[in-house]
Amino acid sequence: MRSTMQDAPLLIRDIVRHGQWMYADKEIFTATPTGIVSGTFAEVALRAERLAAALTRLGVSRDDRVATLMWNNQTHMEVYLAVPSMGAILHTLNLRLFPDQLVFIINHADDKVIVVDANLVPLLARIKEHIGSVRHIIVNGSMPDAPFEVLDYEELLEAEEPGFDWPDLDEDDAAVMCYTSGTTGEPKGVVYSHRSTWLHSLASTSANSIAFSDRDRCLLVVPMFHVNAWGAAYTAFMAGTELIMPQMFLQGEPLLNMISELRPTLALGVPTIWNDLLRAASEHPHPDLSSLNRILAGGAAVPRFMIEAFRDRHGVDVLQGWGMTETSPLVAVSLPPRGVTGDRETDYRVKAGRVMAGVEIRLTNEEGAVVPRDGAAVGEFELRGPWITGSYYGADAPELFRDGWLRTGDIGTLDPHGFMVITDRSKDMIKSGGEWISSVQLETTVMGHDDVYEAAVIAVADDRWHERPLCVVVRTPGSQVSAEELREYLSTFVAKWWLPEHWSFVETLPKTSVGKFNKRELRRLYAEGELEVSTL
Ligand code: ADP
Repeated sequence: MRSTMQDAPLLIRDIVRHGQWMYADKEIFTATPTGIVSGTFAEVALRAERLAAALTRLGVSRDDRVATLMWNNQTHMEVYLAVPSMGAILHTLNLRLFPDQLVFIINHADDKVIVVDANLVPLLARIKEHIGSVRHIIVNGSMPDAPFEVLDYEELLEAEEPGFDWPDLDEDDAAVMCYTSGTTGEPKGVVYSHRSTWLHSLASTSANSIAFSDRDRCLLVVPMFHVNAWGAAYTAFMAGTELIMPQMFLQGEPLLNMISELRPTLALGVPTIWNDLLRAASEHPHPDLSSLNRILAGGAAVPRFMIEAFRDRHGVDVLQGWGMTETSPLVAVSLPPRGVTGDRETDYRVKAGRVMAGVEIRLTNEEGAVVPRDGAAVGEFELRGPWITGSYYGADAPELFRDGWLRTGDIGTLDPHGFMVITDRSKDMIKSGGEWISSVQLETTVMGHDDVYEAAVIAVADDRWHERPLCVVVRTPGSQVSAEELREYLSTFVAKWWLPEHWSFVETLPKTSVGKFNKRELRRLYAEGELEVSTL
């Protein structure tokens, strides 16, 4: 028997219409060098309609790729809403990539138009010669003497009327594409559909996940070029959540000011950002984080000390999320179950998260056999579901899939209630004397020491044990803490044979284009003898 329900496609244009009507007065705030500016959802949606008309006049049609090279700001939101709704495909470019990576990605995606923030035009100028598919470059902001022919975003919009007639599309049509950062091999494109975006947004509003709602105002620190700002732009319009866009003001101090001035209830970003916010707050006479009731930290392991510091010093709950570009990204959120209190509550927040409805998960061993969900058996996480990718755009990668499941490359355990614990990415694991040491656990533990600001652990070759951990530490300002003291500190938390004997103290740790510790770069520095290492 077939159901009698109506058949309506899940389209991004309907998320736009919903936010435009139901939450017309909600605002999007953007930080600028001269202060905060804002626009309402209604205004933003009307401007998105004008943009769609302008893009159509420029010849953009179904399936054409429209790229952005932009910070988090209101204009970027307008492009987010307009491009998929008109049937074209939004392609967000990571402004921290090397020029040759950008060239590769733009050509591979066959981008027709790029919308660029004025202060990023110099970056585009460096690659302009090599991106033949791009027909128009639209600049957001004043650009009196551009190094090449550009169109002005505001002028384009002024020439059009609102009221664009969003087309009927198929819910499986491509809506957005993102490239993985290419830490292993060439960057690979992942294509999200209208349907996958819809379902992912809906899941993000669940009280069992991030619970975006119209009672929230969200500080969106995660870049809009990093997996769609974790879906927050579309979820915000669906749920009526206001957004604060920090543009390039991503240090602890300006974020602290934005929080006390604009009073967000929710904030999204990678752990390194929140570490810097904690530092800035500790150096401020009266830090005010009182508006925040939760922070979603994800993209990398969240250290226990960070969860405790936000709770004990500022009364803010830290939620951890797990995901990747291939998974839209949200798969799991570490909301502690009801009735769990005290340290046990924190034990749950330290996990990567509990898997959301809609995603299927399993753990497999090296032979590909499924291992038990008992919180003890270790394996690689494999996923499938309506917002998990089934392939890559224009690239064959059969080794990343198994029988229709996406192989994540993340290793860990799964408990009987669906909570994931990540021990490592497979390429970061340390094999010592035939046993695995978790670099994630070592670095998140050592970061709990008061004299440690940041730490990352990599494997180094060892004649006897095959590999041993090297711990690279950034001390807090003024600290002289020694390797012996840190090893002693670690010894109360981890097994003796895990304790690193190799230590290096540095001024800063290399970060990836989305702000995570860059272990590949650390391995290179070590291999080329650029790290000063002491061995105990
Ligand atoms: P990149 O490869 O640039 O890091 P992604 O943002 O897609 O690109 O990263 C996904 C990876 O980030 C995951 O495979 C996982 O290794 C890591 N990750 C994400 N969330 C967490 C988390 N909560 N704990 C540990 N690792 C995480």
